[in-house]
Amino acid sequence: MGEFELIRHYFAAAPCAQGGVGVALGIGDDCALLTVPAGEQLAISTDTLVAGVHFADPCDPFLLGQRSLAVAVSDLAAMGATPLAFTLALTLPTVDADWLQAFARGLNAMAQSCGVRLVGGDTTRGPLSLTMTVFGRVPTGLALTRSGARPGDLLCVGGELGNAAGALPLVLGERTAEPAVAEPLLAHYWSPQPQLALGQALRGKATSALDISDGLLADCGHIAAASAVGVLIESEKLPLSKALLTFLGEPAAQAAALSGGDDYLLAFTLPPAELPQLLADGWPVHVVGRVVAGQGVTLLAADGQDITPATRGYQHFRETP
Ligand code: ADP
Ligand code: MG
Repeated sequence: MGEFELIRHYFAAAPCAQGGVGVALGIGDDCALLTVPAGEQLAISTDTLVAGVHFADPCDPFLLGQRSLAVAVSDLAAMGATPLAFTLALTLPTVDADWLQAFARGLNAMAQSCGVRLVGGDTTRGPLSLTMTVFGRVPTGLALTRSGARPGDLLCVGGELGNAAGALPLVLGERTAEPAVAEPLLAHYWSPQPQLALGQALRGKATSALDISDGLLADCGHIAAASAVGVLIESEKLPLSKALLTFLGEPAAQAAALSGGDDYLLAFTLPPAELPQLLADGWPVHVVGRVVAGQGVTLLAADGQDITPATRGYQHFRETP
């Protein structure tokens, strides 16, 4: 199968590539054309996933397609954007029909659930890697950035932390667990659900936001730096799932929540006055700390003691000490 036939068969023919709101021209020309309504801005983000670095190789291609798009779309959720479209740059070692079929099905399933359209890409031969660029729209001036946190704001997260990190030993085949424990953890790893609706609900309310990809400690460090504030995290307030606590025990579950990464839940700062209405509306908002004058991230024990660990989260190019 040649490059063009492959693109046509697996990607251009997929239901998620059939155009939709905002897509004036999709796959097949030199560029796609997107229409952004007046009064809105285009939000753009790119993510690369490399086999053996970001995912185990081999792995289930359906789950890979689903997960890689979810990870990319999560950045739109973090900005409060509404998804429009995405492109897929795919590097493949070989053309394996079964693999491509399953990958395209996983991709399509997540695209449909997020309301995002495949509008183009690139297909090359080489070691397996995927690059996705997502495009969203957000009312001008209302995007949620990392830089608006103010002393006095609450630090909140959009759900139970650490489940995807807890799943990693299962994904890598290092450990097993009974289905009641393994299934919810693996679901968080393989099909994270980008918190798009929550991100949109936080427009004009949250003072800063991001999606947690490298662990709460490391990601809150980005808010602290961009906003020139300090962030306090109260360890006893971290929401942990029953499955994670059963699988890891409390100290390791807490470490997974703080430093594990791959959660793709939103972390955001909120003036206290905004909290009651969000809770009344049923949004999954958990207060885990607060913003103070100062700098950096500090982890506090229940008795107020500073228990900030030295290691924060995963980094590809770690600074030498
Ligand atoms: P060009 O050489 O002009 O860059 P290509 O031959 O790479 O164009 O691609 C032809 C068309 O197919 C373009 O519209 C491109 O966006 C699209 N395309 C290529 N690879 C993919 C892919 N993996 N998924 C979706 N669309 C793709
Ligand atoms: Mg090309």
